[in-house]
Amino acid sequence: MKKETKAIHTPFQRRDAYDALQMPVYHTLAFEFDNADIMADAFCGRTDAPDYSRVLNPTVTHFESRIASLTGAKEVSAFTSGMAAISAMLLSTASAGKNIISSSHLFGNTYLLLTRTLARYGVEARLTDLTDPTAVEALVDGDTCCIFLESVTNPQTEVADVRALSEIARRHGFPLIADTTMIPFTQFDGRKLGLDFQVVSTTKYVSGGATSLGGVIIDYGNFPEISTFIKKDCVFNLGGYMTPHAAYMQTLGLETLQVRYDRQAATALRLARLLEQTPGVVRVGYPGLESHPQHELFREQYGEGAGAMLTFDLESGEACRRFINRLQLIHRATNLFDNRSLAIHPASTIFGPLTQEQRDAMDVKDTTIRLSVGLEDAEDLYADICRALGDLPTDKLQHNEI
Ligand code: PLP
Repeated sequence: MKKETKAIHTPFQRRDAYDALQMPVYHTLAFEFDNADIMADAFCGRTDAPDYSRVLNPTVTHFESRIASLTGAKEVSAFTSGMAAISAMLLSTASAGKNIISSSHLFGNTYLLLTRTLARYGVEARLTDLTDPTAVEALVDGDTCCIFLESVTNPQTEVADVRALSEIARRHGFPLIADTTMIPFTQFDGRKLGLDFQVVSTTKYVSGGATSLGGVIIDYGNFPEISTFIKKDCVFNLGGYMTPHAAYMQTLGLETLQVRYDRQAATALRLARLLEQTPGVVRVGYPGLESHPQHELFREQYGEGAGAMLTFDLESGEACRRFINRLQLIHRATNLFDNRSLAIHPASTIFGPLTQEQRDAMDVKDTTIRLSVGLEDAEDLYADICRALGDLPTDKLQHNEI
């Protein structure tokens, strides 16, 4: 089956008592057993019968199994948020005295998790340029426990060579982990690219319409001891397992993921091309543009659609704030890949609590706007952008020049 079909037709783990077509929300904490032996088997993991909804719930299991079927993963674990998935992933890999090789081009909370939270437990973050495999390999030593990257960094839109990083990880026997939130897992084959684990904030593309928080670890089964730690230690002892209601919403989101993504990515490309020719816009960051430094690498790794996030620079921070204030259709909000388009000035918001020095290290510029492109009509969006820039050339659209 093709991914669009699988996203809808992955069977339930068991036949539903009422033959419901959509997996029901099992809003119950505990499950009853026919006898003591069956109960003991469930509690000791000898069967897959659910016992308690902090660790196993049929609605969540069904969501996980749909993602496993779409990605070919050995195991998928669902959490309450993207950050819960990322922290479970890194805690399963690292321990005191180990180091993680990554970049300073990371989502803000992931950066702080690596440099502040995990540092407290004796884990060292070695941050480098992940687009330079030689620099990466130079940091590897006997205590390196993984390389962690983001598929497209936000807001820099940088793309690393995953195969090159995978070769380094293979040579040294540790996993390559990618946060692939920016490009849906239906767009590429993570295993073929050489990833051992993907972590995804399903809050974004998967939830569809920003209905619920969620995160998953997609595990290709190459490091069984880490898989066991995720399921047994992180889910059981740390908590953070996805709730049944979120799993229900996100399963619905999965069914329309590809359709929404194709449209959003096409609109984003159209807007990126228009913005490149719009006076007042100094630079556009979008991997789908030929002008993007890793355009070819992006296509080779993640295919045609280049995502629904783009960034663009105006002449000053003041111009960015003016732009944001004048928007009428595009919402002033954080989050990515809602059905509605969202704009934000990352330097003063998401990265606002950091020091200027940290923002400089992360290449977060005061002149950058981040746009998450929704399902609206491209011309309506461009008209709003032009209005906010100060009534610039919407006529280009009408004359079909772009
Ligand atoms: N990873 C990336 C790339 C993100 O952009 C985000 C949130 O914006 C996260 C992780 C965190 O996800 P969540 O908000 O679901 O915890």
